[in-house]
Amino acid sequence: MSYFAERKPHAVFTPYPLQGHINPLFKLAKLLHLRGFHITFVNTDYNHKRYLKSRGPNALRGLPDFRFETIPDGLPPLDDDVDGDVSQHIPSLCDSIRKNFLQPFRKLLARLNHSATTGLNPPVTCLVSDCFVTFPIQAAKELEIPVLLLSPLSAAALWSFMHYGTLVQRGIVPLKDESYLTNGYLETKVDCIPGLKNYRLKDLPDFLRTTDPNDTMLNFFIEETVKIPSGSAIVFNSFDELERDAMNAIYFSSIFPWVYTIGPFPLLLNQSPQNHLASLGSSLWKENTGCLEWLESREAGTVVYVNFGSITVMSAEQMLEFAWGLANSKKPFLWIIRPDLVTGGSVILSSEYVNETRDRSLITSWCPQEKVLNHPSVGGFLTHCGWNSTTESICAGVPMLCWPFFADQPTNCRYMCSEWEIGIEIDNNAKREVVEKLVNEFMVGEEGKKMREKTMQLKKKAEEATRPGGNSYVNLDKVIKEVLLKQK
Ligand code: UDP
Repeated sequence: MSYFAERKPHAVFTPYPLQGHINPLFKLAKLLHLRGFHITFVNTDYNHKRYLKSRGPNALRGLPDFRFETIPDGLPPLDDDVDGDVSQHIPSLCDSIRKNFLQPFRKLLARLNHSATTGLNPPVTCLVSDCFVTFPIQAAKELEIPVLLLSPLSAAALWSFMHYGTLVQRGIVPLKDESYLTNGYLETKVDCIPGLKNYRLKDLPDFLRTTDPNDTMLNFFIEETVKIPSGSAIVFNSFDELERDAMNAIYFSSIFPWVYTIGPFPLLLNQSPQNHLASLGSSLWKENTGCLEWLESREAGTVVYVNFGSITVMSAEQMLEFAWGLANSKKPFLWIIRPDLVTGGSVILSSEYVNETRDRSLITSWCPQEKVLNHPSVGGFLTHCGWNSTTESICAGVPMLCWPFFADQPTNCRYMCSEWEIGIEIDNNAKREVVEKLVNEFMVGEEGKKMREKTMQLKKKAEEATRPGGNSYVNLDKVIKEVLLKQK
């Protein structure tokens, strides 16, 4: 459905420049494009180079109303030739976003508005940003246009960040020293965040349970979070039924001017009958599609899909424990291993290992994850519990084996395992015997069966929320009318 017969509204999108943040904002851009908006998606120069390299030179042909622009990230260039597999230093990136992004962004907006005078594009009518990238709030004020913020996190995780001050006041954080990470202190109940019930300190995003109150990442997130209420509205890639208690607390608090749940995005996008943007992806890595053919050769519901997302890393020892645990479980598995997954270099799997698993495994690089999750052969997902992976897995009805690594992942894991009962947690230092046992329980045991049923029930609820008349579907229309098209 398009709202506009003549001049299109023009939304300019600013993601936090990492894959797990780009993806949901990109989906929201597509949703607005399908509802008649002209889109400008602003990547950093560095990420745009990676994007073009991963998709080929013709990637952006034929998209007159969905355009890309770039701004510099303000960091020194990396030595390599941007081969699509390199990560930037995240704390430096955070620092640079705050110091260096607003000026080139202002110039870009001025250029877009200037070219509107010659009819090249419509004038900019609204901004849409990751909620941890708040410099567009200032730019929106200057132009007197609305700015919508998207939480890349679950409602519960963002709500936890909003309560850092309360946790400090109560003396719960910062931790007195490193020993508090292992002496049982993380089991402490946290009952001062409204809507988050039966919460332990270990369920909070890990930046919050630091020993160092001056930690760069902690301060970046806290300082950006404080600015969120100055945006025009915030939206979550979630649905009310999924995070009822957290969402009720958020609605009740009136901290944000306007707040809406408009997810999960993969299912909402499926609602558009003529999705001419379906093939336009947002991966910064070249996708290996050969794994889909391999999945074709496996029986329904038998394959364990293993993927730890775009930035999680592990030690060589931990990787070997996973490798042998998967091998000894005798279950087929598809394992996506990024070149930078293992700290200190790659691990060479022995010929003994390769011989042992050759007939029932595929180890490969970056894949089209949503297609993999929706393949009938996939029966379970061994995941690091990123919020995109979590919601994509729910949309596909696939239960999860949870190995949370950092950031908001412990919070997502807690909901999966305790609240929704669609996941089993693997201990951080799990040995191969434990991995083997849990993989078996998960894929063919009674607990796995129950989790599979619960995941399908949750998938149905997600479908209800995103179909016409459903809560998330209606909310997206409201966001457009009440926020993005609102005249001053
Ligand atoms: N992803 C993908 N292919 C891969 C690995 C990841 O397409 O091989 C996508 C995945 O579908 C998700 C995003 O990358 O949308 C990862 O986001 P998530 O929040 O799960 O984790 P993060 O990478 O931010 O830790």
